[in-house]
Amino acid sequence: MFQNYNLEEINDRARAAFVGMAIGDALGATVEFMTATEIKAKYGIFREIIGAGWLRLKPGQVTDDTEMALCIARAIVSQQSWSVEAIARNFANWLKSKPVDCGDTCRKGIRAYLLNGTLESPPNQWDAGNGAAMRMLPVALYTLPDEQLLTKYALEQAHITHNNPVSDAACICLGKLLHMAICGASKHQLRREVDGLITRFPTFSFDPYRGLATGYVVDTLQTVFYWFFKGKSFEECLVGTVNQGGDADTTGAICAMLAGAYYGMDSIPQRWLKKMDKKVISEIDAITRQLVSASPAGAVYR
Ligand code: MN
Ligand code: MN
Repeated sequence: MFQNYNLEEINDRARAAFVGMAIGDALGATVEFMTATEIKAKYGIFREIIGAGWLRLKPGQVTDDTEMALCIARAIVSQQSWSVEAIARNFANWLKSKPVDCGDTCRKGIRAYLLNGTLESPPNQWDAGNGAAMRMLPVALYTLPDEQLLTKYALEQAHITHNNPVSDAACICLGKLLHMAICGASKHQLRREVDGLITRFPTFSFDPYRGLATGYVVDTLQTVFYWFFKGKSFEECLVGTVNQGGDADTTGAICAMLAGAYYGMDSIPQRWLKKMDKKVISEIDAITRQLVSASPAGAVYR
């Protein structure tokens, strides 16, 4: 599947994944912690980037999901190599900058780094939130298309805050799906990859779909998978996802990174792109190109 990659197409899909992620975050944040029923009563179908929500955001403002992914991306680009320490340091500086939001498990792991220099949280059966999976995109871009490298780095970045087998499986699977989609895989091929995850961890099964979209990484990925495979466009996949409510900015961010990778830049509605913070989008554009060019796939063209 990977032998025919074309750098121009990879760059387009990678950019759509990262821009898409920010859009999913900004769109979903408005309805984060609402139920699907509450969203329906208030908006009918919620489909515009308008900010507000429980975080009182500006339209197009992103949250911790995009910001933590950027922390990882900046660490890779500034070091011109992989450094868990540099990632943890960026997380720490980000936390000290009083971000608009930060999950409990992320905060706990970053505090342990600040206090003791800990780069790996102890294994914890309760740390199965989606906080490590939501920031996987830069790892997937930088390791394209090397699955072993992806697995190693996925676990290292995840364990700064989340050390849990279900979170680990989610991070690796999501990274693999991103690799495949960016390299042009079909939905059928992506579905087979997800079926492999479900064979190993039946808890991720999303058929029948239970409609749960909480921050538990199992609920999060069930929602993302259900809407990604059901939707026929970037917009359909993302609108379906965020209208489930719950951890809607994070389900939105993850579904949109996958849908962006799959459908490419042309699929992203201009009305959404125009609403986004221009500084964030221009940093994403530059950093995405740098990550891809530093990856094994990019090395082929250097
Ligand atoms: Mn968030
Ligand atoms: Mn969230």
